[in-house]
Amino acid sequence: MKSKKRWSVNRIAAYSGAIAAALVVAQLAGFTPLAERIDNYAYDLLFKYYPVSHAAQSVVVAIDDETLRTMGGMRGLRSILARGLESIAAARPKAVGVDLILADEQDAVEDARLQSAMKSTPNLVLSCELDPKGWEDPLPGFRSAAAALGHIHADQPHDGVSRLVPLEKVAQGQRRWALSLEVFRLARGGKPVLESPDDIEVDGHRIPAPRQGSERPLRIRFLRGGIPAISVAELLRNPQLAGRLNNRAVFIGVTALSAARDRYFNPYQEAVQGVEIHAQSYETLAGTEFLAPASNSAVLLVCAIFAAAAGLTFALMSGWGAYLIAALLLALAHATPAIAFNHGVVFPYTAAISSAWLAVVTSAAFQYFSTRRELRKSESDKARYQQAIHFVTHEMRTPLTAIQGSSELMGRYNLTDDKRKQMAQMINSESKRLARMIQTFLDVERLSDGQMEMKRELFDSREVIESCVDRVRPLGERKQIRIFLDSTTADRLQGDRELMEYAVYNLLTNAVKYSPSETEVHVHSVRDGDQLRVTVRDQGIGMNEKELRNIFKKFYRTKKAEASGEAGTGIGLSIVEQIVLHHGGRMEVASVPGQGSTFTIVLPANVTAPAK
Ligand code: ADP
Repeated sequence: MKSKKRWSVNRIAAYSGAIAAALVVAQLAGFTPLAERIDNYAYDLLFKYYPVSHAAQSVVVAIDDETLRTMGGMRGLRSILARGLESIAAARPKAVGVDLILADEQDAVEDARLQSAMKSTPNLVLSCELDPKGWEDPLPGFRSAAAALGHIHADQPHDGVSRLVPLEKVAQGQRRWALSLEVFRLARGGKPVLESPDDIEVDGHRIPAPRQGSERPLRIRFLRGGIPAISVAELLRNPQLAGRLNNRAVFIGVTALSAARDRYFNPYQEAVQGVEIHAQSYETLAGTEFLAPASNSAVLLVCAIFAAAAGLTFALMSGWGAYLIAALLLALAHATPAIAFNHGVVFPYTAAISSAWLAVVTSAAFQYFSTRRELRKSESDKARYQQAIHFVTHEMRTPLTAIQGSSELMGRYNLTDDKRKQMAQMINSESKRLARMIQTFLDVERLSDGQMEMKRELFDSREVIESCVDRVRPLGERKQIRIFLDSTTADRLQGDRELMEYAVYNLLTNAVKYSPSETEVHVHSVRDGDQLRVTVRDQGIGMNEKELRNIFKKFYRTKKAEASGEAGTGIGLSIVEQIVLHHGGRMEVASVPGQGSTFTIVLPANVTAPAK
């Protein structure tokens, strides 16, 4: 039962169209909020599987709950910061980032102390923040004491998990680098940041951070276990601890739970404060293991490869083999984000799996349904073949019997020359009829299969009708049915004369077959405006509405026709209709059960032209 699958152009187009549609749907699905959540979830999971843990190069100096409690609370923040900076400066760190907004004037004495602490701190970076009015910068006195300003914005994740930091922010024509980047730049010697659309460079250290809009999001590779932290209170209590800050990047900020305004989680689900996020971002900048998002074109390409592979699998294979390959493909699609992550590329999880799944399901379903359709078609082909055999045996029996009988008579008896001639003629005409029948049957089959072009000769409609009426008269006489040719017009038709003759003859034989004896059959042919109408009207058994709807179907016969004892196959009218349709015309039938039927062939004017 291994039949070689044939792929028509239409089928290839439909199949690829379906898979392309699946790919488009999958890509669109990747933009939904649900997909974003799933992608983030997958990202966090991969974070846990591929943690980064090298020794931290930065330290957090925390203004924690104990510090606030013992040193005057939030109101004493500036003096806490001043004292903190004094100890930090003494330890000679590489650079210091202050995660506090110092934009408003407070106690003059304290501010002066803070300013002088700042002045003695090397490579100091102060924070600035965007508010609706623009950049909120530190007081000019503080600003002048600092080496640089850095913004302290992080992304604002819906789920509270911090993943990105925008390395740059622009407002009112002023661009600020992130606090962590400024600290890093100063720690590496203070040369300006070099930038290209895809990355930035600090003292020869390349950081992939493609610009997206007015930002350059950097994925923070959080160090597992966090950044070492010392509280200001501890530092003051135990000045030796300051040694840990030597030659390090230091970030100082509030971590007290009671005062922290931003508190997030990292992808490991560990709680992190704002100041630690800056320190982690610094570690990412200083490290070499960057995570860059896969470009849109790369995502599309990989998804398209999955879709194409799924399509090819089901096109070239079938059964378990195909399902096995499809399962491997799906497994690969699920693994792709992990493989990419391991190579520092963030590949959207939903895009990968939804393209692979949708493409696999679409191709499998397409193949399943088209195989089913083929099976049904081959079953109906078989049925048609059987019916065709039926047709041959029934329709051809009459001429064959005549030929057989005559030839036997000729062989067995000494016949007169006249009689012999008559019989030879009859054999000749019957065998011609047989050949014509076979030809017509084959022609119509091929026409409706689209394998054959119809002939386009010019012929006279009257000749066709008259010859059919003449041929059918003897049949009518046997049942005492009189056939009237009421009117004919001499119209020229263009098309296949033999097929048209078959059609008219068939209507006539049906009229005779399905009418009781001593009735009449009337034939008209009239020009009605643009149309030529050839009508065959009988006074026969007729048909009801339901039967009328079916008679042009192949192999359909009414119960009454079956009961009439007339031989038939139910194929003639379907051939008639095919012929008429191929001539650009249509069939009309009217019938009343028990009273008679009227069949009309309507041919359009464009194939008719007055005969000369
Ligand atoms: P066949 O005559 O070999 O059965 P056709 O395709 O020519 O096949 O006709 C299909 C069916 O339509 C016939 O079996 C019969 O039931 C019905 N039919 C066709 N012509 C007539 C008619 N003139 N009067 C009544 N029934 C008809």
